[in-house]
Amino acid sequence: MNPPEVDRLAGSRAAVAARRARAEVKRQVSSGERSASEVLSSAMRDGSQPEATMRVSELIGSIPWLGPTRTAKIMQDLRISPSKRLGGLGVHQYQRLHEFLVRRQAPRRPMEPEGPRSRLVVLAGPTAVGKGTVAAHIREHHPEVLLSVSATTRPPRPGEIDGVNYYFLSDEQFDRMIEAGQFLEWATVHNAYRYGTPRQPIDAAITEGRSVLLEIDLQGARQVRAAFPEAMLVFLLPPTWEELVRRLVGRGTEDEDERERRLETARVELAAQEEFDAVVVNTNVEEAAREVVSLMSV
Ligand code: 5GP
Repeated sequence: MNPPEVDRLAGSRAAVAARRARAEVKRQVSSGERSASEVLSSAMRDGSQPEATMRVSELIGSIPWLGPTRTAKIMQDLRISPSKRLGGLGVHQYQRLHEFLVRRQAPRRPMEPEGPRSRLVVLAGPTAVGKGTVAAHIREHHPEVLLSVSATTRPPRPGEIDGVNYYFLSDEQFDRMIEAGQFLEWATVHNAYRYGTPRQPIDAAITEGRSVLLEIDLQGARQVRAAFPEAMLVFLLPPTWEELVRRLVGRGTEDEDERERRLETARVELAAQEEFDAVVVNTNVEEAAREVVSLMSV
């Protein structure tokens, strides 16, 4: 039997209102105003809230940088069916989802029992995300942190100073440092030049109890993770992919081939963010730098 016309109208109005309310929750999550785990908690607390009628896939999909493909993969890993709504989760599904959301938001390393201590922090992320600018801000405002100066075989750009921005080495000099075991890590970046982190200043700073920041590429970050499992790996993200492309092209210091190479590297690097302990979105340099420094005492 069909419902009377007036009930149908009221029903569709309620459905529109509920859809609007869910859209607002999604907007709050994607803008960072609300955390996804808090939305899940409120859905569990009160089944009459719009959060409870939201699909799990909608919630995960509104987290910055999780598109439909990765959302589907995450749902599969969590063993939650695509049509499931937050209010209809089983206890174990809820636990798995909650754990995933909390891990995604917070640094994955356990808290150290004894207060602040020296810490090795690696800042990586795609090309032109602004790692250098964030690192420079930290150098200027946090002199207590040692910002590692890398060695490279790339020639200096205008304005770059040997020993400040990089140690600019010849291929032979770089080879000699590798042979002498003087690098904590090194890698060929963008299939072009070699870059490496000199080990000695870092060992000295850690011994003195200073925190150290390395601004390196993904291959280097993986090597540091292997050598120093207690290092904190921070992934710097641009606010959007379009912004990243704008920054890459806008800098205008690379030719067409080099730019395409860097974009390809950026695509691969973006996919690696899951391996990192923390993700920082670089919308504002000062805030991003503050967040990175605050992770040193976690
Ligand atoms: P650029 O040539 O634009 O200064 O840097 C190119 C890339 O090399 C950046 O992604 C930067 O993070 C990376 N890089 C700089 N120093 C090091 C280093 O010591 N080791 C590794 N693995 N990468 C580095």
